[in-house]
Amino acid sequence: MVYDVAVIGAGIAGMTAAIYALRAGKTVALIEKESVGGQITLSPKVENYPGYKAVSGLDLADGIFAQAMELGAALEVDEVKEVKKEDGIFRLICAYTEVSAKSIVIATGLMHRRLEAAEQLAGQGVSYCAVCDGMFYKGKTVAVVGGGNTAVSEALYLADICEKVYLIHRRTGYRAEKAVMDRLYSNEKIVRLENRTVETVERTDAGLRLTLRSTSGEEDMPLDTAGLFVALGHIPQNTPFAELIDLDEYGFAASGEDCTTRTPGVFVAGDCREKSVRQLTTAAADGAVAGLAASKYVDGL
Ligand SMILES: Cc1cc2nc3c(=O)[nH]c(=O)nc-3n(C[C@H](O)[C@H](O)[C@H](O)COP(=O)(O)OP(=O)(O)OC[C@H]3O[C@@H](n4cnc5c(N)ncnc54)[C@H](O)[C@@H]3O)c2cc1C
Repeated sequence: MVYDVAVIGAGIAGMTAAIYALRAGKTVALIEKESVGGQITLSPKVENYPGYKAVSGLDLADGIFAQAMELGAALEVDEVKEVKKEDGIFRLICAYTEVSAKSIVIATGLMHRRLEAAEQLAGQGVSYCAVCDGMFYKGKTVAVVGGGNTAVSEALYLADICEKVYLIHRRTGYRAEKAVMDRLYSNEKIVRLENRTVETVERTDAGLRLTLRSTSGEEDMPLDTAGLFVALGHIPQNTPFAELIDLDEYGFAASGEDCTTRTPGVFVAGDCREKSVRQLTTAAADGAVAGLAASKYVDGL
């Protein structure tokens, strides 16, 4: 069978793309390599998705998935390894099977670089997203680990909400834009702890206790904080599609708000593409745009 649209990745962006394409009367294959729902299933509490005061990420994703399945999506649990375009048809070569489609939506999201010492407390004081979880720490002291644009921007974002922010970085040099650095250096709420790595993270009655190791021969240092934000960078999941789409220097799909790419019939949606705000709402918005654009492309064939 040749599907009208093959959606790669069943996160919020991919599932929304499937819903819009199905409602436009298209046949849709939804291909997911791990668990349906994507990143948000790791979040116990979402408080910024319109319509919900508070909802678990799993419940939110389950609802969207059920909607896509009721509309007739064909779920394929498999990993897309490569995509070839032959005679106008896309051939998706997966680990176990092959799927053919007239158009594709790449909605493969990203992975956050993990901090091993904090892994066991993810969602229990350790967060990978300041915009998502910052409000839980209003008026409290938090720490951010990382030294790139994301880490510095998250520290600045949190400084507007929290009483104090420690920015922990293993070096003294930062990989952030000058404008962002200027704001960092002039922000009195942010305390820079340089030449330090996070060695251990433990839960205490008040929050977390970190042990910071020195990279310059100083003593270990304990640090008490209500929450720890890990901002060590993102790993977009776009490598299998590099022959069809342009990637920026970080590996994100080069595309604007219209979700188109340099290959006709190939669209991108959600966290996997270049954008400034990576959230559920923007993933869903991309899904709608890409799902409809793919449907229109198929209509025009
Ligand atoms: C812990 C946590 C808490 C968060 N909290 C919030 C919040 O409160 N509010 C908010 O708005 N946002 C929050 N976010 C961000 C939000 O989850 C993301 O912006 C959103 O889920 C992105 O959706 P997506 O569909 O683009 O990507 P993803 O959710 O990353 O989904 C991509 C899917 O594609 C699959 N995939 C990847 N490669 C392949 C392949 N080759 N073949 C098949 N499948 C593939 C992946 O397995 C994954 O399931 C949070 C993120 C995290 C990690």
